[in-house]
Amino acid sequence: MNDTCIFCRIVAGEIPATVVRETDTTLAFRDIAPKAPVHILVITKAHHPDVATLGHADPALAGDLLAAAADVAEREGLRGDGFRLMFNTGEYGGQEVDHVHAHLLGGRPLGPMLVTG
Ligand code: 5GP
Ligand code: ZN
Repeated sequence: MNDTCIFCRIVAGEIPATVVRETDTTLAFRDIAPKAPVHILVITKAHHPDVATLGHADPALAGDLLAAAADVAEREGLRGDGFRLMFNTGEYGGQEVDHVHAHLLGGRPLGPMLVTG
């Protein structure tokens, strides 16, 4: 638990969130500013700053995160039409919250992967 981390505070129940799935090690909740009809954040309950750190520190937990994201995609009905799973990482990746989170996006065609220019 990192007291200054907004996602740690969601895990601790100190900040409300619309939780869609919880496991022993992960939490999935709706993004407060959705960019698609379905926009869910899937996080590890333990604080890791980003996916690169998590991948090295605890590969099994990284697997839990992917499995949780896949379960949520299935439950939200995204498997047929498809979805995007995204880890913004660091400054150039546009990461704003330094607690590892996968963005699960879907519910409409999402267009090109990157805005160019
Ligand atoms: P990042 O830019 O770090 O990849 O994404 C952070 C995401 O967290 C953003 O999409 C933002 O809307 C979302 N977010 C930030 N604060 C909160 C919050 O307090 N609750 C929820 N549910 N989402 C948040
Ligand atoms: Zn945290």
